[in-house]
Amino acid sequence: FLKGKRALITGSTSGIGLAIARALQAEGAEIVLNGFGDEDEIAKLREELGAEYINTDLTTVEGAEELMAGAGGVDVLVNNAGMQHVAPVEEFPVDKWNAIIALNLSSAFHTARLAVPHMKQAGWGRIINTASAHSLTASPYKAAYVAAKHGIAGLTKTLALELAEHNVTANCISPAYVWTPLVESQIPDTMKSRGMTREEVMNDVLLARQPTKKFVQVEEVGALAAFLCRDVAQNITGANYEIDGGWTAQ
Ligand code: NAD
Repeated sequence: FLKGKRALITGSTSGIGLAIARALQAEGAEIVLNGFGDEDEIAKLREELGAEYINTDLTTVEGAEELMAGAGGVDVLVNNAGMQHVAPVEEFPVDKWNAIIALNLSSAFHTARLAVPHMKQAGWGRIINTASAHSLTASPYKAAYVAAKHGIAGLTKTLALELAEHNVTANCISPAYVWTPLVESQIPDTMKSRGMTREEVMNDVLLARQPTKKFVQVEEVGALAAFLCRDVAQNITGANYEIDGGWTAQ
């Protein structure tokens, strides 16, 4: 059902973004990949998905503009690139705050403002933002991440309203902990800030509020993203879909 449609997924060289790219490609979409990583691995991914690849730094406005100019008109825009930093607020590095707000929130505004004209003209479009359970609830030591994710949930609702009559939907997918490099890389910082072992961080911090006691798998996020692109999902807009093992039901 995505044959002839062009999908750009930011931050798609690994983790959730890559799984979304695979899920959309499986439905026939032409894929544009973006993100950092090892050249050889990216070359392999490009071949696997028959994809284009545009490497720009989305913490800058120029990076977002260069990406959108290179990608051309896209029918499906997935804002997924993101990063995390864990520190008490009084020690939170200002440059980390700025970079996280720029990547996890502002880059989605820039890609969306540049993608919308083509979608309106085509009379069809899908904007999917990878938010987080942290778009609905907070955890200590993640000031920038929680602020940016709450922000993207608000941006998504606004886009949904502005685009409602154009057959363009905008939704968030909000996973709790998904087993990816981003999660793995924050374990050492949490160990340090809370004085815990690796096992304690995994069981008592990461999965503490996830009643299913299971990490979300990236394929589960990819499957929901693909569903949101179906015509049967045309009235699903402005929604924030949790895939969180019951976290935010508590
Ligand atoms: P990841 O680290 O595996 O992937 C992040 C991607 O973003 C990579 O492709 C990376 O190259 C790219 N990226 C990083 N900085 C960039 C920059 N400046 N410009 C362009 N691309 C950049 O992480 P992930 O876990 O797959 O996370 C993807 C998204 O999912 C993020 O928005 C994250 O906040 C969100 N999320 C993740 C989890 C989780 O548990 N992993 C949970 C909820 C939400």
